[in-house]
Amino acid sequence: MKSIYDYTQEQMIEEFKELGEKKFRATQVFEWLYRQNVQSFEQMNNLSLDLREKLSQIYQIGPMKIETKQVSQDGTIKYLLQLEDGGFIETVLMVHDYGRSLCVTSQLGCNMGCRFCASGLLKKQRNLTAGEMVNQVLTVMQDTQERISHVVVMGTGEPFDNYDAVMDFVRIINHPKGLAIGARHITISTCGLCHQIERYASEGIQSNLAISLHAPNNEIRDQLMPINKRYPMEQLRQSIENYIQQTNRRVTFEYILLKGVNDELKHARQLAHYIRGLNAYVNLIPYNAVDEHGYQQSDKGTVEAFKSELLRLKMNVTLRKEHGRDIDGACGQLRAMKVGEQHASHHEK
Ligand code: SF4
Repeated sequence: MKSIYDYTQEQMIEEFKELGEKKFRATQVFEWLYRQNVQSFEQMNNLSLDLREKLSQIYQIGPMKIETKQVSQDGTIKYLLQLEDGGFIETVLMVHDYGRSLCVTSQLGCNMGCRFCASGLLKKQRNLTAGEMVNQVLTVMQDTQERISHVVVMGTGEPFDNYDAVMDFVRIINHPKGLAIGARHITISTCGLCHQIERYASEGIQSNLAISLHAPNNEIRDQLMPINKRYPMEQLRQSIENYIQQTNRRVTFEYILLKGVNDELKHARQLAHYIRGLNAYVNLIPYNAVDEHGYQQSDKGTVEAFKSELLRLKMNVTLRKEHGRDIDGACGQLRAMKVGEQHASHHEK
């Protein structure tokens, strides 16, 4: 069954045209879904009963099933949600002083193979649809009864490997008659697919770009992130430079500090050298251990020294606050555990 959340407003108008329905009906439905946050067609009481019936036979509507939910003392909530086809995805709500931010998953599994990532341990099974991303936002809003003000597409998956659906997703949640989440409050994080960064630059959309860099040079990045063999750091920098020139927007570099791998002062200096001249800032991220890989979190002192060195070199740098420390496990681990359980029970049969 199709999901009613798959459509941007323009696409919904087209879709309704094909159903023989007027344009304003599509607008009404769009507003019911995102302004009024209704969870069923029955509640759309300015549509005829016939139309409501017809829509409910064609489109899936309503929140996803919450399989598990872990609530941290700091307000972070980690959800494991079930998709229509039975697959599981994670989505994480973080509470900040500036609002509530949701970390959205874009693919079922991921093929990018970053060595430090639990999500990447499970290969991509398929892309999520725009509607499945929209529904992560709706499901969490429904569950918490609170508005989500910020969205980061930073959960499982490489968003630019599912480019069109992610762009539709951004358009739906950003639309003034949709959830109206400001484009500047939406961030897409890529491990560095250069051809898509160029495309994103010309979308004419004001949402943000974050680059998962995680290394100060090609040698280390090659080890950590296989994508670097396809798009080495020089090429990546060029794409980012073009993006900044075209959009006039600031880019974030995400950098996970891994003990003894990329956390030395000379690495901070190489990183500063790489970034210098770009309108950008660095977001340092404390690593959450994933057992399978043997990487470890850098010591507190090392993290501070790394940050100080970047500051000394006049870089804009922030250290990401750790969210949900008490419920932790790295991103993707809930799902990895669930899929592991399924495999185990499958083998037991
Ligand atoms: S870090 Fe992101 S891109 Fe890399 S394997 Fe994990 S989910 Fe995929």
